[in-house]
Amino acid sequence: MSICFFEGEFRPTGECRLPVTDLAIQRGVGVFDSIRIYKKRAFALEPHMERLRESAVTAGIAIGGMIDRIRDAVRSGAKRDDCPDDGDCICKTYITGGDVNDCGRFPEPRSFVIFESGPEIVEEEYERGVSLHPTAEGRPFPRVKSINYLVGLMEAAERHDVMECLYCPGGKITETLRSSFFLCIGGRLVTSPVGEVLGGVTRNIVLELAREAGIAVEERSPGVSELRSSDEAFLTSSWKEVMPVVKVGDALIGGGRPGPMAKRLLAMFRSSLDRWLD
Ligand SMILES: *Cc1c(COP(=O)(O)O)cnc(C)c1O
Repeated sequence: MSICFFEGEFRPTGECRLPVTDLAIQRGVGVFDSIRIYKKRAFALEPHMERLRESAVTAGIAIGGMIDRIRDAVRSGAKRDDCPDDGDCICKTYITGGDVNDCGRFPEPRSFVIFESGPEIVEEEYERGVSLHPTAEGRPFPRVKSINYLVGLMEAAERHDVMECLYCPGGKITETLRSSFFLCIGGRLVTSPVGEVLGGVTRNIVLELAREAGIAVEERSPGVSELRSSDEAFLTSSWKEVMPVVKVGDALIGGGRPGPMAKRLLAMFRSSLDRWLD
């Protein structure tokens, strides 16, 4: 079951149709955000709305009052009786280019908001850690959460053993297909600065919690050559929270086992969750 707020009302997602003239379809012009809903309460709603706004404006999409309408739809959808999984689900907010391309400016965008079951994460993955596939490609326009995932999807196509691809342009590690990436080296966290990567909402919260706990943080893009000597790696996203990474390509990290830092940050994140819920 999945519901969608489209053209001013909630409907089953399967009944909603975009015209073939929308530039999301014709040219890949569109941005989105993905918000976890915990028991009918949206996680970090305002930071997600701010990022959606920034993605759209950076992409040249004229949003007018769209963000306010999307925020209202997220709040009311999360509380509906037909919200999937009793309001423990994922909410994806989209803004498309619409039908008009005014020389790279998009004055008549469309929007819709989908509520659906999140991808299954088995608790075992937190215990075992996951693998990533490194690629020398980078993500264009790092500050834009674009609907176009082609680079990342092509790079990890048919790799059933990996969770996502890891972008490593010019030998520097930035982020993964849909998560922020961290290394832990000698007790310090190392992660790319926003601008070289998307401003991950979970990333920013994990950094805030780490700083509160007195854990040192270095915001720089680490070299691929630092992987093997790192104590730990993990990724963060709204859906995965803090997920240990134990292998990148052929390189084992932390002897192939999740380490204490990821576990500690996940526990800190989960126990602080109420602070960030709408
Ligand atoms: C969506 C996404 C994230 C995760 O962001 P959260 O706000 O933490 O959910 C990180 N990196 C990229 C490239 C993404 O697309």
